[in-house]
Amino acid sequence: MRYAVISDVHGNFEALDAVLNSLKDESFDALLFLGDIVGYGPDPDKCIDILKTETNVLLAGNHDRASIGLTDTVFFNPYARTAIEWTQKVLKERSRKLLKGLPIVRAMPEHNIYLVHSTPKEPEKWHYLVNTSDAYSNFHSFSEKICLVGHSHVPVIFEEHPKGSVKTCNKKAKIKDANRYIINVGSVGQPRDGNPDAAYALLYQDYVEIKRVSYDILLTQQKMREAGLPDYLIERLACGR
Ligand code: ZN
Repeated sequence: MRYAVISDVHGNFEALDAVLNSLKDESFDALLFLGDIVGYGPDPDKCIDILKTETNVLLAGNHDRASIGLTDTVFFNPYARTAIEWTQKVLKERSRKLLKGLPIVRAMPEHNIYLVHSTPKEPEKWHYLVNTSDAYSNFHSFSEKICLVGHSHVPVIFEEHPKGSVKTCNKKAKIKDANRYIINVGSVGQPRDGNPDAAYALLYQDYVEIKRVSYDILLTQQKMREAGLPDYLIERLACGR
């Protein structure tokens, strides 16, 4: 199977649209989404409608759960909390219903992949998986060959050698028979690795690559301003932080 994998759209329609357009030139069998459709951005319902029809697997993230009152926002920073409160107000009933039914984890042993928004270890605690020591402890928490994650908005590929050592690859890696992988596919709608372009991943049998695509950031920022979302969230889109 060949997969296109996306995560963390966060209500950014322009970024999602750019990624889906870019995917028209790629060949894949299934489109997987790893959570956080809403939060931060100005188009939550529109992004939900699109992802509902375009994806083969949909997971919920912490912002999705918070927007329908299923996760406490006590650990959110003030900007994220303001955006969630705005999202809670505008979200349509059909969107709430859909979000309520989404899982936060999906094991697909038949395809040797495991999908989770945050981390395979304690997924409901919304830890971040950013460095090799995080990866090292998480390799023990799934049995499939490949685990796909989002949540940190920083794309990175961790490769585990059969003897247990873990190394990091940035943008692409050959998938080797003997090794296992944790792949953070980055964020479509709010990248935080210093590159403002939307991120997604292509995962083939023997190869994975993180791809980037530019989108109309100014238009998203204008919509956020009109919605009254926090300036900090508007500005960070342009620098990808
Ligand atoms: Zn997120």
